[in-house]
Amino acid sequence: MNQATNEVIVEITDLHKAFGQLEVLRGIDLSVRRGEVVCVIGPSGSGKSTLLRCVNLLEVPNSGTIVVNGFEITDPDVDIDRARQGIGMVFQSFNLFAHLTVLENLTIAQRKVLKRGKAEAERVARENLERVGLAEKAGSLPAQLSGGQQQRAAIARSLSMDPQVMLFDEPTSALDPELVGDVLSVMRQLAEEGMTMLVVTHEMQFAREVADKVLFMDEGVVVEQGAPTQVIGDPREERTKSFLSRVL
Ligand code: ADP
Ligand code: MG
Repeated sequence: MNQATNEVIVEITDLHKAFGQLEVLRGIDLSVRRGEVVCVIGPSGSGKSTLLRCVNLLEVPNSGTIVVNGFEITDPDVDIDRARQGIGMVFQSFNLFAHLTVLENLTIAQRKVLKRGKAEAERVARENLERVGLAEKAGSLPAQLSGGQQQRAAIARSLSMDPQVMLFDEPTSALDPELVGDVLSVMRQLAEEGMTMLVVTHEMQFAREVADKVLFMDEGVVVEQGAPTQVIGDPREERTKSFLSRVL
């Protein structure tokens, strides 16, 4: 989207993660600059989710360093609650609180974590519901929304915390095909507004059009990375070619 600056927001160096004997990440290097959209593609089981989960310490790496917004996440003394405040995360499943209205889902963390007052939290929540096209759903319960609307509400909830970087883990994979487009257009709009985004996705068209950089991962390593026109349009590595021939 050409809004990238030189300020590095996420810097990952030689990241390793194993579950028992299974080495899932085997030396990942990655940097994301402010305003940049980086898409991670690759086959199931290649370690994409684990990589994203390491960035906000939902998984603890075995070695390597991760710095996000100046916080060294991998430092055992890091104030992880403060570090996480700058990181928004949107998963495949929407994880909204079922018994709370959409508005309450958007205000609860603002009030508890950011200590915003009720009026301020509601103002921010409504602003972000507007941003994702759900202004009229503030009073609804999650079950009254379609999957695509729930995912947009989850995105609005993350945005309400003023993240410096947004992590998306296959945000459209659980959606019926006709609902995918609305979620992707919200993400595209965020990218255009200059949001820094690290996105695991199978949506090649989105990656091609929106990403500044695409990483192809396989078996815990970055096989190839570069501009989408290169990695998706003209891949160099056999493994990338073979993956793309299966998904395109
Ligand atoms: P992807 O998102 O690319 O499909 P994942 O990062 O989810 O890949 O998983 C990579 C590998 O790590 C898989 O073999 C998966 O079964 C394994 N794995 C992921 N999470 C755990 C866990 N908590 N415990 C054990 N194995 C795991
Ligand atoms: Mg995954």
